[in-house]
Amino acid sequence: MRAVVITGVSRGLGAALFDALYERGDRLFAIGRRFTEAQQGLAATDPDRVLLRHADLGVPDEVPDAVELADFLRDSPAVLIHNAGVVEPIGAVGALPGDQIATAVAVNLTAPLLLTNGFLAAAERSEQVRVLFVSSGAAHRVVEGWATYCATKAGGEMLFDAVAEQYRDDPRVEVDNVNPGVMDTDMQAAIRGSTSGYFPDRERYLGLYERGQLPSPAEVAARIVAQHLTGE
Ligand code: NAP
Repeated sequence: MRAVVITGVSRGLGAALFDALYERGDRLFAIGRRFTEAQQGLAATDPDRVLLRHADLGVPDEVPDAVELADFLRDSPAVLIHNAGVVEPIGAVGALPGDQIATAVAVNLTAPLLLTNGFLAAAERSEQVRVLFVSSGAAHRVVEGWATYCATKAGGEMLFDAVAEQYRDDPRVEVDNVNPGVMDTDMQAAIRGSTSGYFPDRERYLGLYERGQLPSPAEVAARIVAQHLTGE
């Protein structure tokens, strides 16, 4: 049975990926600050398949280490999905709250690096290893007012390009960046609700929502599973 480590499953895309992967029969090690009632129910009734690990990914010391991950992975085919992310702070550099900058860098970039470092050590005996970084179109184009988000997603993509290169001659290991595209989650609500004076694209995101052009996270999760997370 495949062993999947995934971050940020309390809502949005992460919650939908959790459901899709549980449905497929994977064992799940979900990392985050919060979990839904349904997830807590599964952890209680199906503890061999669902482990909920509390961690604030904004705090590097809380990221699970290789020993803890190895205990979960055992020798199973191993998957790591970096889903947790934050779009804030939105606004002009020069007027951003410093604590929000530090948290965004920690959640979007430092935690994925620390977790991958532990995971790859823990997965040494797994015959198949997959790492997926949930990125954004903002990794490749400037969205005005999103400097921290653009920089951390671009940094994340470079990080996983570098890890992919490290394993280029090892067919056991596959590493990918995936852009889920816009979707109807709390992150989009935070974008629409931004009151920053420096975010000229806000109206565009508002329009996508008002015209019903945001796919559901369940649709996006199904696509990501079909394209990147098939097989054993
Ligand atoms: P979301 O609805 O805001 O959910 C974010 C998830 O990340 C939540 O489970 C949240 O947990 C978790 N998270 C945030 N800060 C955390 C922290 N400090 N420690 C632990 N977990 C934390 O976001 P989403 O829209 O589903 O986004 C999922 C991924 O897709 C992100 O990487 C995002 O950048 C990317 N993405 C989204 C869109 C979009 O249109 N929504 C577009 C492109 C890319 P809590 O409940 O504890 O906060």
